[in-house]
Amino acid sequence: MSERKGQLPIMEDFYTIQGEGKYTGHAAYFIRTAACDVGCPFCDVKESWEIDDNQWQSISDIVDKVEDAPIAVVTGGEPLIHNLDELCKSLKYRKIRTHIETSGSSPFSGSWDWFTLSPKKRKMPLEENWLHADELKIVISRPNDFRFAEDCASKVTENCLLYLQPEWDKSDEILSEIIAYIKEHPKWKMSLQTHKFMDIP
Ligand code: SF4
Repeated sequence: MSERKGQLPIMEDFYTIQGEGKYTGHAAYFIRTAACDVGCPFCDVKESWEIDDNQWQSISDIVDKVEDAPIAVVTGGEPLIHNLDELCKSLKYRKIRTHIETSGSSPFSGSWDWFTLSPKKRKMPLEENWLHADELKIVISRPNDFRFAEDCASKVTENCLLYLQPEWDKSDEILSEIIAYIKEHPKWKMSLQTHKFMDIP
């Protein structure tokens, strides 16, 4: 993919409340980069897969928009498709916490205060990314996803937080199984997409 110096393609950016994982409930500015080569069937941001020419923004303009938000969450798309060193450097210069949500399927870049790894079966994380994970988030759609979750958990560090999250559209069918699984395997915690309950982005 061709990159542009000092720029990133941004699909959308907005100030909201983090809805998932350990930082649920925290005010956070979301920066959703364009482009993803993973292709999950359950993806709810398929419009992020391709880059439109008009989506390129300068990194300084992006960081200006974060303003006084305490946390910037970089997500996608698949954010690690892009080199994120310069973005992180600019955010940290302004003392903004840097968080990322990634499948880990592209090379590591950036400097992260919080690294959420959400592995996808279609394109697994690169070896280098497992050990960066502060939290592991596995989307559960069907019962055999629990085995996938355990395989992934065996690859992260012992300090990594472990979350199971129901696929939003399958939640009615799978939630009770996740509750039962967590009660039997309490190293896991539940992650719900609380922003969807709040009807915020
Ligand atoms: Fe969608 Fe994320 Fe999967 Fe890419 S990695 S297809 S953005 S869910």
